[in-house]
Amino acid sequence: MPQVLLRKNEDKRIRGGHLWVFSNEIEKTVGNPCNGDLVEVLDYKEQLLGSGFYNGNSLIAVRLISKLKVENIYDLFSKRIVNAYALRKSFYPYRESFRLVFSESDFLPGLIIDKYNNSFVLQINSFGIQRNIDPIIEILKNSFSVENIFTKNDFYLRKLEGLPEEDSLYLGSAGTEIMDDGSIKYKIDFSQSQKTGFYFDQSDNRFFIEQFVKDKTVADVFSNCGGFGLHALKAGAKSVDFVDSSSREIQNVKENLLLNNLNIDSNCIVHDAFDFLEEAITLKKNYDVVMLDPPAFAKNKKSLPTAEKGYEKLNRLALKLVSDGGYLVSSSCSYHLQKEDFFNCLNRAALRSSKEIQLVKFSGASLDHPMLSAMHETSYLKFAVFRVFSV
Ligand code: SAH
Repeated sequence: MPQVLLRKNEDKRIRGGHLWVFSNEIEKTVGNPCNGDLVEVLDYKEQLLGSGFYNGNSLIAVRLISKLKVENIYDLFSKRIVNAYALRKSFYPYRESFRLVFSESDFLPGLIIDKYNNSFVLQINSFGIQRNIDPIIEILKNSFSVENIFTKNDFYLRKLEGLPEEDSLYLGSAGTEIMDDGSIKYKIDFSQSQKTGFYFDQSDNRFFIEQFVKDKTVADVFSNCGGFGLHALKAGAKSVDFVDSSSREIQNVKENLLLNNLNIDSNCIVHDAFDFLEEAITLKKNYDVVMLDPPAFAKNKKSLPTAEKGYEKLNRLALKLVSDGGYLVSSSCSYHLQKEDFFNCLNRAALRSSKEIQLVKFSGASLDHPMLSAMHETSYLKFAVFRVFSV
């Protein structure tokens, strides 16, 4: 097997549990590895640190998959997928739909698998997984009774790996299906959907908001197919305004309201979120609960200052609409915006909207998105619930 030898002292992060070797940490490669090949990673004294997938195209030159030599890649993939499934089933015994594999966090770097009732939707973000996709598909077919397996690879990170943004169909078709998150049913149209079809990362947080929305007026801004607002209605919210700039997603909200018999008092609004909030302020509207779940404003470190202004403005506008004693539910899925930066945006937003905010809950992604404590790159979602008072 080809080998990658690290420079002196570049082994520490790896020994601590991090799974990436950066190209500038490499002293030399032996055996001419090709992109996607399995390589052994050695420290400068030639002690084995682990095995991983090599990619000369990427700044992340090796993504480790094991601390040992890999004798049989099929068996290793199989063990990882079985372990991942067992974790999800222990937390969600009655659910059939969840994130089955979350990349590095499940020791399968660059592989995301979202499991629905009848479909496995994959996102492949590393050269090594792309090269080894056949055994992974075989394992899925052998271990689960599955009708459809396909990729949704429209993810910008693939470019950094030198992979095209193209999709593959491995079994069945990418059609539509009805799934549930343990409470709410959703119709998913895989051919049209954003990401892999559903934002599983907010699943647990959608259940959390059920605790304080009864009899409340709610705005679900950046609603996508309606997850937060549907849970709010199920928990007895008085009304929900769903807002998303995608007419397709608002159409999905309407279908999901019917599917769940939740056509209570709701408005489905196709609108830019910032414009919606500004217009609502002009109209002197207010809500007991405003929920914000925007797309990532900071796609990289460089865009962070602009992104922070965006988060601050969004939260300032939302806070203005929250009635005294109400709640702001604010999320950010920008990895580059750290928790402290996020809170700073919220604090400035509170100051500028003359509100006092009290943090009552802070969490991250759902339990089907585990993290590696040695790798902060595996944690990205921030979810905060604030009680809001007028000054
Ligand atoms: N809250 C959702 C997930 C939101 S994903 C859930 O629980 O599933 C982000 C959503 O923001 C997407 O549906 C996207 O269509 C929408 N979006 C992106 N930019 C927007 C904008 N400027 N105004 C309103 N919606 C926007």
